[in-house]
Amino acid sequence: MTNIIWLKGGACSGNTMSFLNAEQPSVIELITDFGIHILYHPSIGLEIGEQVNEVLNDAVAERVQLDIFVFEGTVIQGSNGTGNMNYFAGRPMKDWVQDLAGVANYVVAIGDCATWGGIIAVPPNPTESTGLQFHKKERGGFLGPGFRSRSGSPVINIPGCPAHPDWMTQILVAIATDRMDDMRIDHYQRPKTFFTDFVQTGCPNVNAFVTKVDGGFGKRGGCLFYEVGCRGPMTHASCNRILWNRTSSKTRANHPCLGCTEPGFPHHDLRKGSVFKTLKYLGYLPKEVPTGESKLQFYFKTSLNQTLRSRS
Ligand code: SF4
Ligand code: SF4
Repeated sequence: MTNIIWLKGGACSGNTMSFLNAEQPSVIELITDFGIHILYHPSIGLEIGEQVNEVLNDAVAERVQLDIFVFEGTVIQGSNGTGNMNYFAGRPMKDWVQDLAGVANYVVAIGDCATWGGIIAVPPNPTESTGLQFHKKERGGFLGPGFRSRSGSPVINIPGCPAHPDWMTQILVAIATDRMDDMRIDHYQRPKTFFTDFVQTGCPNVNAFVTKVDGGFGKRGGCLFYEVGCRGPMTHASCNRILWNRTSSKTRANHPCLGCTEPGFPHHDLRKGSVFKTLKYLGYLPKEVPTGESKLQFYFKTSLNQTLRSRS
């Protein structure tokens, strides 16, 4: 039996909605086949009022073992560090987070808000929101850079806005079946199994990317990098490998990747003119180029490809 408590801070509940759509395995299978026992979840738990306090206090006092503490949403520290903007079960949510993270074997942050602050932490950030162990790209967040759960692991980050449902359920299964030792995490504490490839891996528009054929929203056969700001070549995620609803992905539906699994999200802090738009120098050279390539190399390669295409 693996006991889980799931709490939400500054969140829209999108990750819970995503979680409930999991298929491999589904939430039902987590319970029936993998011995996961959800002690409390704010959307699907039956406990109310004092019963919630009882579940949380039992875990904090270690009368009940807490194997996994899942957090969705930002940790709200406002106003002025008191946390009084987000009260839950009689105290600031941030205090529950501190206490439950301190007794859990594993702490899992689900979604961008819980991992690095996401949209809610965009300046001026009136709620003083932050992620569990990162604030944007900077290690630290609410629990601090040195935090380790009882198992010795830092917070496991499963980013996304929302995260893919199967990323969540598969990580919970890995913990429940004692396979976390096989799980490698990257610099941003994301499981490498889901966050090593780029979104571009498996995108049907790759040929158009190489030959620099522009696409557009919903337009088949073109690449969305050059005009509408697709971040597929800079974003680590398996969206074109483990498809959404087992059917599709943003770029397969010709919608640009927004780069939601990277700690910079939302990129450029949603500044006017930076969303769904490729930022350029001199009106034609992309300011951001695929990860791992130098700007010069990329500009040279794309103009060469374009010349060859115009001659063929
Ligand atoms: S649409 Fe995006 S992910 Fe697909 S090839 Fe173009 S840049 Fe890459
Ligand atoms: S395609 Fe990009 S924006 Fe969409 S879910 Fe995947 S990483 Fe996030």
